Amino acid sequence: MLHPDSTAPGPTTIDRATCESLDAADPLAPFRERFDLPDGIVYLDGNSLGALPRATRAHVDRVIAEEWGIGLIRSWNDAGWFAKPQSVGDRIAPLIGAAEGEVVLGDSTSGSLFQVVTAAARLRPDRNVIVAEHGSFPTDLYVIEAVQSMAGGATPLERRLVRDGGPALDELLGDDVAVVVLTHVDYRTGRMHDLAEVTARVHEAGAIMVWDLCHSAGAVPIDLGAAGADFAVGCTYKYLNGGPGSPSFMWAASRHHEAARPAVTGWHGHARPFDFEIGYEPMSGIGRFRVGTPQLLSLAALEASLDIWAEVDMSLVREKSLRLTELFMALVDRRLGAWPIEVVTPRRSTRRGSQVALRHEDGYAVMQALIERGVIGDFRAPDLMRFGFTPLYVTHADVWDAVESLHDVLESEVWREPRFAHRSAVT
Ligand SMILES: *Cc1c(COP(=O)(O)O)cnc(C)c1O
Repeated sequence: MLHPDSTAPGPTTIDRATCESLDAADPLAPFRERFDLPDGIVYLDGNSLGALPRATRAHVDRVIAEEWGIGLIRSWNDAGWFAKPQSVGDRIAPLIGAAEGEVVLGDSTSGSLFQVVTAAARLRPDRNVIVAEHGSFPTDLYVIEAVQSMAGGATPLERRLVRDGGPALDELLGDDVAVVVLTHVDYRTGRMHDLAEVTARVHEAGAIMVWDLCHSAGAVPIDLGAAGADFAVGCTYKYLNGGPGSPSFMWAASRHHEAARPAVTGWHGHARPFDFEIGYEPMSGIGRFRVGTPQLLSLAALEASLDIWAEVDMSLVREKSLRLTELFMALVDRRLGAWPIEVVTPRRSTRRGSQVALRHEDGYAVMQALIERGVIGDFRAPDLMRFGFTPLYVTHADVWDAVESLHDVLESEVWREPRFAHRSAVT
């Protein structure tokens, strides 16, 4: 069955022509023209690196030629460079249910997590436990280790991990828990937490809730404000199409701004950066999460993609995303039943984001063979093939073609060729 709201035919009747007619009726179809995608490629890795918006090149060119080339140092004022991390943050706010003045751009998600988790832990000085998930993106766990190692309290911070098969979150939530750090949509399986429900449970235990939105910003509707969450971070180079190395964002609920003490206190977060005082005093508001000079060229690329996102209705994105992922799983069931492939992504629509993971013992080689055929996904150790569905530029016909290509790769066993077993540095 396709997702319950869908009017599309079920998987037993669907064929490529049906996919094409779904694409013809798709209200998001015009957005595909806004992206510069190579011919002959089915791009299912926009959850790792979003596609290039057509407008980005000219916009970045203009920033380089005019703001840098001609404006030179004057652009810090004239082009609003100093304010960019916050003015661009305000453009991300509507995508995550944040208010104006609550979002600031940082550097990498890892660095931003360090800022935010430290600030969160310092709001609960009488508690000494940080809870996270064993299956988290590892950088999140490494950053928590860094926060533990620099905590100055009387008792060292302890890290407790939620695992599949136990212990569950509720078992770990005691009155010693300061902070809970969870990824909204799991980077491997695509499993999605209920943001509001989990936040409420964490608050009941008196802890601070930090959300990692890397795989949800631009993928699913998010309402941090309605959920009453405390802090969040996310990246902009995945579903938001900011380009390789585009900056991460940080969100803090405004009720925490004046008490928040992030880890790294740099001059761009100072109350009066151009007074060059020798002591640190935090800027009021979200700006205190800033550190140093922002990556303005990366911010320029991000601004071009946010012009697109300003026009996007996230409920349409969600509806199409569920159709695409549902269609993909249904076609995998129908076409790939002969091979040892398992769909590990939750089938329940409320429990998944915008990606699907397939388990196959030789998933790495199968994915390399698939990429050679022009269907680009990626691989996560030990055995998951990952496919991201980005509704602004992926079509139903793309989904059909991807499953047919996967079928060909498995049937021909071309993936057994030794060259596909060679592991590149980045998988
Ligand atoms: C992609 C991703 C990151 C990336 O971190 P960077 O420091 O920006 O490289 C972190 N956490 C999660 C959950 C991710 O999916």
